[in-house]
Amino acid sequence: MSFTLAIVGRPNVGKSTLFNRLVGKRLALVDDQPGVTRDLREGDARLADLRFTVIDTAGLEDATDDSLEGRMRKLTERAVDMADVCLFLIDARAGVTALDEMFAEILRKRADHVFVAANKSEGSAADAGVLEAYSLGLGEPIRMSAEHGEGMHDLYTALLPLADGYAERAEAEAPEVDVAVDEDGEADPEGVRKPTKARPLQVAVVGRPNAGKSTLINKILGEDRLLTGPEAGITRDAISVQMDWDGLPMRIFDTAGMRKKAKVQEKLEKLSVSDGLRAVKFAEVVVVLLDAAIPFEQQDLRIADLAEREGRAVVVAVNKWDIEDDKQGKLRDLREAFERLLPQLRGAPLVTVSAKTGKGLDRLHAAVEKAYDVWNRRVSTARLNRWLTGVLEAHPPPAPGGRRIKLRYMTQAKTRPPGFVVMCSHPDKMPASYSRYLVNGLRDDFDMPGTPIRLTLRSQS
Ligand code: GDP
Ligand code: GDP
Repeated sequence: MSFTLAIVGRPNVGKSTLFNRLVGKRLALVDDQPGVTRDLREGDARLADLRFTVIDTAGLEDATDDSLEGRMRKLTERAVDMADVCLFLIDARAGVTALDEMFAEILRKRADHVFVAANKSEGSAADAGVLEAYSLGLGEPIRMSAEHGEGMHDLYTALLPLADGYAERAEAEAPEVDVAVDEDGEADPEGVRKPTKARPLQVAVVGRPNAGKSTLINKILGEDRLLTGPEAGITRDAISVQMDWDGLPMRIFDTAGMRKKAKVQEKLEKLSVSDGLRAVKFAEVVVVLLDAAIPFEQQDLRIADLAEREGRAVVVAVNKWDIEDDKQGKLRDLREAFERLLPQLRGAPLVTVSAKTGKGLDRLHAAVEKAYDVWNRRVSTARLNRWLTGVLEAHPPPAPGGRRIKLRYMTQAKTRPPGFVVMCSHPDKMPASYSRYLVNGLRDDFDMPGTPIRLTLRSQS
């Protein structure tokens, strides 16, 4: 099972060119398939290791009568309904036209997943058009040249979370089926990178010296696995080791904690944010390991804040829980301190562990997996806009100087971490408190605790 992508857009933007690039010679002629008209073409697409079905809404170029717009609308709606995801093409050289806006409206209302691509954007003549594409309210445009094969990597990256979702579902439905086989091993269009499913989850364990980082990692690894030894990492100071943590492939980065203690002893005092910073940059999930006896010290706060600013998913683990007497009281204090000192990580999981005894590691495992999942989450444009209508009613935006700021629509522009774009009038006048209201609402209503959420306001009056 795979997903279906519909390429939509007005005539002449390059839909067929892209379709042909994705499908190559593997075009399935659909004329005689029931329910599919001549106006929609369907083919088996390949993009690096991704396999999916692509629908092209071409075939209208010849239509010159004035019912064109109506027919185009119907055709597009049908393609949208058939597809799991839509790729909306505009011609970056021509900029956004009225017809493009009509399509955008259909997509905002009807499609679950939409990406905008600004096609024909080879060369600088297209720069303005690419920027204009933001105004469609459908997220960050993919800069593309279907004719020259540019932007295919960005398209791949955009589709990847979706493809992963379908691969997972396919695995769940039919575990015996090998879903990732490529029969004839065709070359990648742009040397696009390999499937992420095979790639381990990148985790960094950061924290002050003596927090218990190396004890924790060794415990997870187990004695026998450690025999293979830690590999020299990507940088001099970050060491990484790959493992299967209860079936979840992971690469764990540690900041010097795994080297022989003697070697780093003299450096311990200096190991600080700059060291952790590197590990954080490589990570998808950052585990901030605190020592229960001295939690939330300046250094811990700095590294947690850094992880947030770098846009990583964060899990806070409190170690040495075995030596804590008043566990209940301590936990209450920790929660209170966490909320007060790290409000930017609201809702991030706080897990108590003992690296020494191994207690709580199962919960840490679950928290890491969940954090990664949330970090990758994509909310459909249709759901977001239904949600936006609700929150605007519950708490209308302010009216600085008597003129109410109008929020028109929103879309999720990216994942890892989730980033949203809201099109509104006077974005510069929007008070930070209202943006916070929106971010907190998104966090609560779409169950995205702990992950950094980016909200961008864009002008459209
Ligand atoms: P459709 O009507 O949307 O299917 O558009 P076509 O794929 O038929 O393309 C319309 C015209 O735009 C053709 O002349 C293509 O060669 C041209 N075209 C398509 N993609 C690109 C591109 O990336 N750059 C440029 N410069 N022209 C393109
Ligand atoms: P690192 O510098 O963060 O890598 O910390 P280490 O893993 O070297 O641990 C520092 C000290 O804390 C060592 O003496 C460990 O034995 C001890 N330690 C680590 N984890 C625990 C724990 O869960 N409970 C207790 N009681 N001691 C621990």
